[in-house]
Amino acid sequence: MRCPECGKFATYGEPQVEVQDFGVSDERATAEVAVTLVCGEDDTELKQGTVEASAEIEHTCELEAVVAHLLTTVEPEKLGTDDVDKAVADREFEATDCTAEALEGARGKKNLYGATVTWTLECSACGEGVEVTGEIEEEASAFEEVV
Ligand SMILES: [Zn+2]
Ligand SMILES: [Zn+2]
Repeated sequence: MRCPECGKFATYGEPQVEVQDFGVSDERATAEVAVTLVCGEDDTELKQGTVEASAEIEHTCELEAVVAHLLTTVEPEKLGTDDVDKAVADREFEATDCTAEALEGARGKKNLYGATVTWTLECSACGEGVEVTGEIEEEASAFEEVV
């Protein structure tokens, strides 16, 4: 497409990316990221779209951390090994933060645009912070023209 500002056939610059929504679903971190393609000459917004990102949560709870975390709510004499096993088996992740960073020319292909998405999660069993990353990429043609 032609850029309405400079009249040139657009070569897109580094896309603008913004996390719209994020969460956790079935032990996967998920996010909706708005990606805006801008003119490489003058930063005019030319195309945009929302891309779904997700990443598997890989995390192993440290036994000592689980025990320490349980002891913040359970008295030591009432804590058994079953409680530790149950905490790990029933663990849930809560997404506390999510950021996206522009990815230009993903995997060396110039017409792919996207983002590297980083989630910060908290594990309910051990209370530790977990960080996972995922990448999204789309061809310029997959985005809607901004009018
Ligand atoms: Zn332009
Ligand atoms: Zn854990």
